[in-house]
Amino acid sequence: MPMYDYKCNSCGNKFDKLVSFSASDKDIECPKCNKNGSEKLLCAPNISNGASNSNMQSGCNAPSSFS
Ligand SMILES: [Zn+2]
Repeated sequence: MPMYDYKCNSCGNKFDKLVSFSASDKDIECPKCNKNGSEKLLCAPNISNGASNSNMQSGCNAPSSFS
């Protein structure tokens, strides 16, 4: 299963979640406020995140999410 970045539309929490191919975005539940309706961030999926390359922090991921 691919892992995607999501942002909660209710509280703004950003989180990673493994999502099955049959699941739709509106089924994604925020782990912070437990509300559905999170928004998928259109980043490259973090299928393999083994390399912690600091040069990879460009794009739509906020650097604070790595702290
Ligand atoms: Zn939330």
